[in-house]
Amino acid sequence: MNFLSDRINSLPISATLAMAAKARELKKQGKDIISLSLGEPDFNTPEFIKEAAIKAIQDNYNSYTPVDGYLELKEAVCLKFKRDNNLDYAPNQIVVSTGAKQSIANVAQVLLNPGDEVLLPAPYWVSYSAIATLCEAKFIEIRSTIDADFKITPEQLEAAITPKTKMIFFNSPNNPSGTIYTEKEYRALAKVLEKHPNIFILSDEIYEHINYGTKHFSFAKIPSMTDRTITVNGVAKAFAMTGWRIGYIGAPEWIAKACTKMQGQITSGANCIAQRATIAALEAPVSNIHYMVKEFRSRRDMVLKLLKEIDGFKLNVPKGAFYVFPNISAFFGKTIAGIKIENASDFSMLLLEKANVATVTGDAFGAPNCIRISYAASEENLREAVKRIKSVLS
Ligand code: GLU
Repeated sequence: MNFLSDRINSLPISATLAMAAKARELKKQGKDIISLSLGEPDFNTPEFIKEAAIKAIQDNYNSYTPVDGYLELKEAVCLKFKRDNNLDYAPNQIVVSTGAKQSIANVAQVLLNPGDEVLLPAPYWVSYSAIATLCEAKFIEIRSTIDADFKITPEQLEAAITPKTKMIFFNSPNNPSGTIYTEKEYRALAKVLEKHPNIFILSDEIYEHINYGTKHFSFAKIPSMTDRTITVNGVAKAFAMTGWRIGYIGAPEWIAKACTKMQGQITSGANCIAQRATIAALEAPVSNIHYMVKEFRSRRDMVLKLLKEIDGFKLNVPKGAFYVFPNISAFFGKTIAGIKIENASDFSMLLLEKANVATVTGDAFGAPNCIRISYAASEENLREAVKRIKSVLS
C-alpha cells in the first residue's frame, strides 16, 4: 500500500542531491569515489563571516526573527542590490528564506495555480521543474543547443507562450551550462515579454559573482519588467555558505508580502545565526571573494583543456558558475566496459561504476544529450577524475 500523497508521489527526487548521496554512500562503503556531482564551493566560509556568526551566538541571538528576516539584513540586501545590480529595492520588498531554493519555492507557491504554464529555458536547474510540479503547474521546456551556447532566442520564447503562460524562470549565470546572457540578449527577450503583460519573471542570479568576465545583468533593470520580476539571490555560492541556507528575493511588495505569509506558515523564517552572518557577508566588499572566483576560473580552464582531449566530448566555454556541461551523445549506441549507453543517464552511471566519478545526468536538467560535471573540487581530484574517465572510455 502506498499511503503517500499524490503530490509527493508525482515529485521526482532531486537528481543533484540523489547523486551526491549515492557518492557519499559508496565512499562510506570504501569506494574511492570522486564526487563531481554537487555544485558547492569546496572552500571554507571566509573567517569574517564565521566570526559574525560566533558573535551572534555570544550576543544571544536565539529568538524567532521577523518572518521575512531581520530589518538590518533586509537593509543589507537592499544595499547589495543597489551596489552590485543598480536595483532599487526597499526593505518591504525583500524576503529572506532558508536558501534560494526556498525563495523560489515560495514565489512559485504564491503565483502559480494548477494548470498554469511555466517556461523553462533548458538546460535548467533540476528543482525548477519539480517546484512547478508541486504547484500543479505545467512546465514547458524551451530547448537550446550547445552550438547556440545554450541560449534561447526571442523567437523561441514567443513560440512557447500560450494564454496559460504565467511565469518564466531565467538563470544567468546558468546552472548547469555556465552560460551568461548579455544585457542586449535579455532586452531582446524582454521585448517579447512586453507583449504579454501577465507573465512574471523569476530571475535566479545565485551565480552572479561566479563570473569570468561577462558583465552581469539583472532582468529587473529593464523598466518594463521591474514590476513583474522577482530577483532571487543568496550567499551559498559566492561566500561558500551552502549549508548556512540563506537566500532572498527582491520583488514587488505584494509578492514579497505573499511570500512572507507563506513562509510564516511553514518555517517562521530563516535561521537567526545564519542571518546575522549574512549581514557581514553582504556588507563586505565583493573583492573579498575574488580569490575563490580566480581559482574556479583556473580550474575551468584546466578541466576544459583536459576534457577536450577526450574524443566524443563536445564542450562550450562556460562563462560563469562552476560546471561544465558536455554533450556526450557521440557515445549513444555504443557498449563501453560492458555497459550499453543509450542515454545520458547510462553514461553518467558508467562513469560512476567504472571510473568511480560521480556526475549528474543532463536528463534532470532538460538536456538529455549532456552530463554535468562540477569543477568545484580540488585540482588534484579534477585531474584524477578526467584521467579515470579517459581511461574507461578508451
Ligand atoms: N544547486 C546545487 C547543484 O545544482 C546544489 C544542489 C541542489 O540543491 O540542487 O548542485
